Amino acid sequence: MESEGPRYLRDKEGYFSKEQRDRTRKRSGEMEAAVGAALRKQKNRPKAMSYFDEVHKYRGARYHELKEFHDKGGKIVGTLCMMVPQELIFAAGAEAVRLCSGYYEPVHPANELLGDAGLCPMVRSTLGTKMVSSNPLVDLIDLVVGPATCDGKMKLAEILQDWVPVVMMNIPRVKVGDSSSDLWVKEVSYLKNRLEELTGRSVRKSMLRSEIAKWNEANQHWSELLELRRSERPPISGRDAMLVVQASQFDRIERWNRKVGDLILELRKMRKKGVHAGEEGAARILLAGSPMMYPNFKIPSIIEGSGGLIVTDELCSGYRLMSDPVMVDGMSRKEIYQALAERYFFPCSCPCFSPNDERIRRMKEAIKAFGIEGVIFHTLRGCHLNNIEATKIELSLRVEGIPLLKIESEYDEGDIEQVRTRIEAFIEMIKTRREFRMTHPPEGNK
Ligand code: SF4
Ligand code: SF4
Repeated sequence: MESEGPRYLRDKEGYFSKEQRDRTRKRSGEMEAAVGAALRKQKNRPKAMSYFDEVHKYRGARYHELKEFHDKGGKIVGTLCMMVPQELIFAAGAEAVRLCSGYYEPVHPANELLGDAGLCPMVRSTLGTKMVSSNPLVDLIDLVVGPATCDGKMKLAEILQDWVPVVMMNIPRVKVGDSSSDLWVKEVSYLKNRLEELTGRSVRKSMLRSEIAKWNEANQHWSELLELRRSERPPISGRDAMLVVQASQFDRIERWNRKVGDLILELRKMRKKGVHAGEEGAARILLAGSPMMYPNFKIPSIIEGSGGLIVTDELCSGYRLMSDPVMVDGMSRKEIYQALAERYFFPCSCPCFSPNDERIRRMKEAIKAFGIEGVIFHTLRGCHLNNIEATKIELSLRVEGIPLLKIESEYDEGDIEQVRTRIEAFIEMIKTRREFRMTHPPEGNK
C-alpha cells in the first residue's frame, strides 16, 4: 500500500529549517554519547560489552557497514515492531534495522506536525527522526514494515508513506479462533512477496531454514544469558542485557551470536569469581510495560542507580525479542511459513491483543524463576494499552504478594527527579519487607 502523494506534508522539503535539522541531529548525538558514557561507567562491566556499545553508537561502525551495503545496491528494511519476522528479511537478501526511536529531541518536529495528538513519544520520536533526517541510519531505509498494532503505530506507518514505501501488516488483534492464525500466515506470505520485489531475489526454502536456524541459535544464547541473570549475584546489569538484546535488531545475527557467545564465556568466569553487577543486597526487579529503546534508558538507569537490579523484564524491547524459537515440525514450504508466522504471533504478549493472559502468565513464571521482589511497570505517556493493562497486572500480582510500582514517563528529562523519588521509596520498601521477613519467618519455617 503506497501513498499516491503526500498525505500529511504538502511541502516536506521546506517544512523544517536547516537549524532545526542540525539541532535535532546535534542533540541526538549528544544524548547517545551521554547515555553510552554512563553505561560504560558501570562497575564490574564485562569487556565484551564494548562490541554492543559500538553497534548502538550514533554514526558508529554498524552505520558505516550498512551505508556501504546500501551504496552497493543492497536493500535495507526498517521494522516498526518485534512482530516482523526478521528471518524473512535476511532470507530475501536484505538487512533489517529497527526504527522505533529512543531519542528525545525528534519528538519536537513531530509535535509541530501533529499538534497534541496524544501519541506516545516513541511513535513521535520515530516520526520526527524521519522528518528531519536526524538519524543517518533511517535515511538508508528502502522499505518500512509496520504491523497495525496500536493506533499510534498504525498511523505512524501511514504517515511514513509520505517518504518511503511501507508494508502495513494486518495483525489479528483477537487471538482466539483459527481465522486469526490463517490471516497472519497470509500476511507473512504477502510480506515475503514484497521483500522479493524489493531485492529481486526469491526467498528459497533452504535460505529461510538457514536464517531460522541462526535466529533459533540467538534464542538459545539469550536463554543462557538469562540463566546467568537468575543467579543470586547476577554478573550483568539489566541495562546491559537490554543493550545486548536490542543490538540483535540492528546487527547481522550470525555476528551477534558470536559476540554474545564471547560475552557468556566472560560472564561465566565472572560468576565463578562472585562478581556482582548490582550493589550488595540490591532489590531484584522485574521491569515491565511500554518498550524502552536505547538511548531512552532513563527508567532502567534510575532503578539501577537507586539500589535495584533489573534481573529480568517482560518488554518487547527486551526479553520478549528472543524468548521463543521457531518450532518447525515439517519440511514443506507451507509448514515452514506456518511455524515462522506463529512464532511472531502467538507468544507475543503485546497489550494490543485481547485476551492477553499470556502476559501475566509469563510474568508470574519469571517472578518465581528470577526471585523477583518487586515489579516496576512503566508506561510511556500516551500508551493507553499498557496503561490499561497495568491495572489488571497489579491486581493479579497483589494476590501473590508482589508489589508493583506504576511509573509514567515522557521523552525528556524534566521528570527524572520525581521518578527517582518514587523508585527510591519503592526499593526501600522492598528492602524493609525483606528484612522483616528474615527476622519474622512464617511459622512453618521457624
Ligand atoms: S508495544 Fe506492541 S506494538 Fe509496540 S513495539 Fe511492542 S510489540 Fe510492537
Ligand atoms: S508504547 Fe504503546 S502507544 Fe507506543 S507504540 Fe507501543 S503500544 Fe503503541
